[in-house]
Amino acid sequence: MKPISLSQFSRVVFFTGAGMSAESGVPTYRGSGGIWAQYRWEEYACQDAFDADPDKVLDFHEQRRGRVLACAPHAGHLHLAALQAAHPGLSIITQNTDGMHQRAGARSVIELHGSLWRMRCARHGAFEDLAAAGYAHRECGLCGATLRPDITWFADSVNAAVFTQAQRLITQAELFVAVGTSGIVYPAAGMVPAAARSGARMIEINPEQTEMSGMFAECVREAAGVALPRMFVFQGS
Ligand code: NAD
Repeated sequence: MKPISLSQFSRVVFFTGAGMSAESGVPTYRGSGGIWAQYRWEEYACQDAFDADPDKVLDFHEQRRGRVLACAPHAGHLHLAALQAAHPGLSIITQNTDGMHQRAGARSVIELHGSLWRMRCARHGAFEDLAAAGYAHRECGLCGATLRPDITWFADSVNAAVFTQAQRLITQAELFVAVGTSGIVYPAAGMVPAAARSGARMIEINPEQTEMSGMFAECVREAAGVALPRMFVFQGS
């Protein structure tokens, strides 16, 4: 198949999930070998757990950061970042919290579930914290409150402004490419159908069939690191 030139589309969305990073070695959350097979999320990934024992929850997230840092972005991450640099209308919307797209050089990434690389004060908001080993900050410099990771835990709501921005881009997209997502976790579960309803050309990249596969005109049963560089080019005007 001839590569698809993105220059024929003014608005393109790549919508990525855990499968994108799994190929780099970032552990998945669910399934065998997934994090929730080893840890109870009720003890590590919800506001109640944080309120009960903040250090236990922060130590857990620090471990996650360490695991992510030990992994490198793959050819698919790098290719996507290069395509974004060439195409002003290309958006990357991710459900991942690991920052791998940014480490590959992506200039702008919409993170639906927040980031392991930001901390948040309930009063003073979120800020970037890229400390490689250990959290640089566990207390807010302004009020001394304990900071929590700026990610969407179980029972948290998705950040409304981020959600609205993602929805706008998805409903305007002429090409929508889902990569490495089962699409069953909200808000992904609503966003794939929204792109399909809006008339985008729909492509799924996933080695396995998903519950959403029927909504895509093209399903590419390959790993992201193989499919992305093979399938997409940008021929600038
Ligand atoms: P999911 O685990 O439900 O689905 C992952 C999908 O990726 C599967 O359908 C699998 O077949 C596919 N996949 C596996 N390897 C692949 C590869 N090399 N190339 C392409 N596809 C591949 O993931 P999800 O839909 O993202 O939902 C999981 C939720 O958990 C998300 O909300 C996300 O926030 C969170 N999560 C994040 C991370 C992370 O930040 N890296 C990791 C795990 C989970």
